[in-house]
Amino acid sequence: MAVQVPTKSVPYKEKAPFDYSSYMRKGKLPHIWCPGCGHGIVLKSLLRAIHATGMPQNDIAIVSGIGCSSRTPGYVDFNTLHTLHGRVLAYATGLKLAKPKLKVIVTTGDGDALAIGGNHFIHACRRNMDMTVLVYNNYIYGMTSGQSSPTTPQSMIATTARYGSIEPVFNTCDIAKAAGATFVARGTAYHCQELEKTLYDAIMHKGTAVVDILDSCPTYYGRFNKFKNASEMMEKIEKDGTVSVTQAAKMTPEQLQGKLLRGIIHKAERPEYCEEYERLMAKAQGK
Ligand code: SF4
Ligand code: MG
Repeated sequence: MAVQVPTKSVPYKEKAPFDYSSYMRKGKLPHIWCPGCGHGIVLKSLLRAIHATGMPQNDIAIVSGIGCSSRTPGYVDFNTLHTLHGRVLAYATGLKLAKPKLKVIVTTGDGDALAIGGNHFIHACRRNMDMTVLVYNNYIYGMTSGQSSPTTPQSMIATTARYGSIEPVFNTCDIAKAAGATFVARGTAYHCQELEKTLYDAIMHKGTAVVDILDSCPTYYGRFNKFKNASEMMEKIEKDGTVSVTQAAKMTPEQLQGKLLRGIIHKAERPEYCEEYERLMAKAQGK
């Protein structure tokens, strides 16, 4: 049983022509996302990144949990699974073990991945199974009407934090790296072209690749926290609130205060889980 090994040394190169409609299930449109929601921009970057890899659609599975970002598999024409809240990585793990040749891409939200699914998240990172995990991080539970999540910044308002959240936040990338993910990156919907390249590198990486993607929920996070509109959210959170790893290398700790890094934050090589499992099975069978 051969494990799919992407041609990881091939650098990103835009591949023309790109036709969105060939990747979409048009019968499932219109989508449910609100005007100004960042998820559509992230989807566009994801489809363009997949297109650049040249992988056939039938070799890819898009798997999600529950939430607004988790609606993604419904709209795209790949092998798709829309599963239970917080349990996406358990489903993705089972799918990858059963069909190791598939390139498994997970679309999940900050609540889905880091709260109800937090346990699955750290253990998926620890195993280093070959899959790409996109955490759409809009600092709130969108679909269930704006409860605070593990990434809601302190003092910000949510349905469950009417006077401002007092809980310290999770940094998705720090957790992924500490738990053992071998590719850890961050992008934003604002920097959508840069995100496309980051997602390409994540997909081509062999092992667990986690990409924390800052995007906006104007309907709940934006409204509760008095942002004027979706573009102001993108400017303040995604543009002004982040710096690329290249820029950061030239900045002082004082200048970096309050900023999140963008780009590839951590990359390592470690045995991939399905390959190790295959070796183990061969040994057990005396081959
Ligand atoms: Fe996007 Fe928020 Fe609307 Fe959900 S509720 S679709 S996250 S803007
Ligand atoms: Mg969310």
